[in-house]
Amino acid sequence: MIFIFGIDSIKKEIGPVEEKLCPHCSNKKHWLLQKSSRMFSLFFIPLIPFSTKYYIHCPICNYGFDVKDDELQKKRSLAQLNMEALNNDLSEKDYEEKLNKL
Ligand SMILES: [Zn+2]
Repeated sequence: MIFIFGIDSIKKEIGPVEEKLCPHCSNKKHWLLQKSSRMFSLFFIPLIPFSTKYYIHCPICNYGFDVKDDELQKKRSLAQLNMEALNNDLSEKDYEEKLNKL
């Protein structure tokens, strides 16, 4: 019997975090928070995560930085709040209230 093992990387965009001037491509855009998980896979199906990192990156050229543990909770909450606002799930007033609580 043959088993095919591998390592896959799964990336998920969480949402926009903050507007930054990119030092790589010089565009001023809202940088995105992304979760990147490395997983053991069996027969090309990702099964067991063994490493997870968060980083923010430029949406134009993908240049980015790792997010430090002490900043992660705030950046993740901000990205989720901004995604809700972009999907029109929040009124402007609710957005301001939630933003002030972060
Ligand atoms: Zn860039």
